Amino acid sequence: MNVLLKKPWILDRQLSELNAELVAEGFRDYAARQVFQWVYFKNSQDVNSWSNIAKANRQKLAGLYDWELRPVLDRQDDGHGTRKLLIGLADGQKIETVLIPEKDHYTFCLSSQAGCPLACAFCATGAMGFRRNLTCGEIVTQVLSLRKELGAYAGKLNLVFMGMGEPLLNYANLARALRLICAADGLNISPRHVTVSTAGILENLKNLEADFPQVKIAFSLNASDPQLRAELMPIARKERLEDLLAHLRGHKRRQRITFEYVLLAGINDSPAQARQLAKLIQGIPSKVNLIPYNATPRLPFRRPTEVAVESFRAILLEKGLTVVTRWSKGEGIRSACGQLAVFGGSS
Ligand code: SAH
Repeated sequence: MNVLLKKPWILDRQLSELNAELVAEGFRDYAARQVFQWVYFKNSQDVNSWSNIAKANRQKLAGLYDWELRPVLDRQDDGHGTRKLLIGLADGQKIETVLIPEKDHYTFCLSSQAGCPLACAFCATGAMGFRRNLTCGEIVTQVLSLRKELGAYAGKLNLVFMGMGEPLLNYANLARALRLICAADGLNISPRHVTVSTAGILENLKNLEADFPQVKIAFSLNASDPQLRAELMPIARKERLEDLLAHLRGHKRRQRITFEYVLLAGINDSPAQARQLAKLIQGIPSKVNLIPYNATPRLPFRRPTEVAVESFRAILLEKGLTVVTRWSKGEGIRSACGQLAVFGGSS
């Protein structure tokens, strides 16, 4: 393909930007809104079928932008409704995105980067290394592709940035994508149904809280001892746990923080560590998600026994914390937390 002729991708445009461009091309100032309705409300990429736009204008639009979603290269189903999609990006990078059925809604687990620079010791995405940040469109295309998987379903969706990558290391594009996701003339998903999960990048956490006060925050704690945490999560050498917790403690927010804690047998799952965890987050309106470790090829960790998970949880409950154990879905197809690392290895 001739790079010089590459058209801009519609999913990389905010409504105001599209409007300015279309008006400059001679369109009326309602055209951008009509386009957004087809793209985001109807999830249609077939410009020629957009019946409320004049034929000549449809032809012009077709030539101006790339309208396609990025292709779904592979699909894996775990037999219980959890489905992982492999999406091919324009430069050959591949990312994964996951559909998870819940009792009364669907959860979309989205990627924010191709690979991840954090290199957390227990995470498969970390082990594959960092390729690059995703653009706004590359985040939004995941939502549109997952929505297509659901056909006519119009019920509640829950979006979680818990796929590949560290969303707060790609804040500018994350924020652009969140705008399209939450805008009434975009995907129209309530920010209260969106969760950004982070290993803790304080500056961008503050930006996120200021720009999207209703978006929920999940903080990947994983260890309550700062030294152990820094061994498991190298980013913790730069972003100090003390500072992050001081911020979370001091900040008035509408939503409770979720603390994620991957349980690794013999490493962070002892009763003493449970008590230390309770003490550490005392006073922060929160809930704790315990995630028994999901096996990852070549990584030297083990999942604790059910009894060990239960006694860890019991200690937290006794200390008055709200605790949910997330026995993962989709483990058989490597779509559970920390298992996303592009099927069959890297490209
Ligand atoms: N970078 C972001 C989002 C991606 S990870 C973050 O750190 O929050 C999403 C969650 O999966 C994190 O809480 C992480 O601790 C957890 N996780 C990573 N690898 C895991 C594994 N092998 N088993 C279980 N959970 C894992």
